[in-house]
Amino acid sequence: MMSQGVILPGATLGVMGGGQLGRMFVHAAQSMGYATAVLDADPTSPAGLVSHTHIQTAYLDADGLARMSAVAAAVTTEFENVPAEALDTLAATRPVAPSGAAVSVCQDRAREKAHFTGCGVPCAPHAVIDSPEQLAAVPDSLLPGILKTARMGYDGKGQVRVKTRDELNAAWADLKQVTCVLEKMLPLAFEVSVIVARGRDGTVVNFPVQRNLHRDGILAVTTAPAPGVAPELAAQAVANARQIAASLNYVGVLCIEFFVLADGTLVANEMAPRPHNSGHHTIDACDVSQFEMQVRCMTGLPLVEPVLHSPCLMLNLLGDLWFPAGSTTQVEPDWAGVLTLSGTHLHLYGKTDARKGRKMGHLTVTGATPEAARDVALKAAALLG
Ligand code: ADP
Ligand code: MG
Repeated sequence: MMSQGVILPGATLGVMGGGQLGRMFVHAAQSMGYATAVLDADPTSPAGLVSHTHIQTAYLDADGLARMSAVAAAVTTEFENVPAEALDTLAATRPVAPSGAAVSVCQDRAREKAHFTGCGVPCAPHAVIDSPEQLAAVPDSLLPGILKTARMGYDGKGQVRVKTRDELNAAWADLKQVTCVLEKMLPLAFEVSVIVARGRDGTVVNFPVQRNLHRDGILAVTTAPAPGVAPELAAQAVANARQIAASLNYVGVLCIEFFVLADGTLVANEMAPRPHNSGHHTIDACDVSQFEMQVRCMTGLPLVEPVLHSPCLMLNLLGDLWFPAGSTTQVEPDWAGVLTLSGTHLHLYGKTDARKGRKMGHLTVTGATPEAARDVALKAAALLG
């Protein structure tokens, strides 16, 4: 890193990746008085559309990286699969947070699990498969299980549920024999996540634990505060997340996803080196959002413990909603109806092309009480179909 001074508003902040997480980062940075630069090859990327500067190149393009380095006082990432080399190249001239080294751990499920274990944080029983011999040596105790590609998986993609050895063999062939992790299928009671932020000086703060409901491997609903989570369990998840961040010498926002098993045990699932879908409610329900926290981390501004000021639910708005029953053409959902309900906060990501399973936006519902937020969220969900 070059400069350790605080980077003040007026400067330009760079982000690698132009998806919705980049867009919400750009919004937060701009509202604090920073200019922004987005590097993403897609001319219609959600973040590129709203940024002062949009560098439209591949992540490893030498000219693109040189332009980012010339314009941005510091750089972050919104996507864990930005090549670590791109972050390392930028880090030669600019502060980059999180580092390429930390991001590369999160790019690989096998390394991620090894890191959890090294921190004393339990994860699912698993085996790494990158040869036919390793495939054959998988213990029966891991079946039924989920075969996951070690790299590049997201939203349930690159995963196959397997019950038998034959299914496992077929699944690995289907996944083109890339390096995979076979995880034992665990009896989940529910899922939670914790978002932590760690500053350059080692200060760590955390958002309160939230509870997550997935459908078809994709996050559907986040609820905060997390219902049904005892204070001891929440404290353990927070302690684990803080420990994981510290041991990576992490700078930035980090999300850890956990499973809570039927017997109450906490198991780390995966981590993301950036703001996370399960933290979108922090924009409307916390005094500092996860995106503002990302700005504070990369600029060296102070970190303060964020406060959840409103009970809330966050509903992901997937492309499916644009195709109501029977419709083959894209129909805009009833936003006006949803916005007549009090406590609704609509966020759309500027994607024009709705597709099944594509994250188009989210709706956060805040209420005076968890019950009130839930009632309105149910009404909103009914209107959206
Ligand atoms: P992604 O990178 O696609 O988010 P995850 O590993 O988080 O991949 O898996 C997606 C979802 O699949 C999880 O949130 C959980 O609901 C389910 N899942 C994943 N691994 C397991 C497991 N070992 N046992 C039971 N359910 C699992
Ligand atoms: Mg996940």
